[in-house]
Amino acid sequence: MKCPSPNCTQDNKETAKVCKKCGLDLSVPPAWFPDFKWHARTLGILYALITVFYFTVTFALRQLPKPYNIRHIPAELTPWLKKG
Ligand SMILES: [Zn+2]
Repeated sequence: MKCPSPNCTQDNKETAKVCKKCGLDLSVPPAWFPDFKWHARTLGILYALITVFYFTVTFALRQLPKPYNIRHIPAELTPWLKKG
């Protein structure tokens, strides 16, 4: 079995517990790396959740009583923000 360290890659016996060159513990299983399929699926789920969340929040905000349901607040509702 090859040493998993990228700086070492020493070939060790299958039964070896530690790398004979760098001393790395070989009993630890190699780290899992996400492949393209995992990225595609995870990003797809995230985008779907964000899209659903956006429409849910938009719908929920429209259910608020007037004038809190207005997304673009008219200037006459905020006279204290008037310029000059
Ligand atoms: Zn090694």
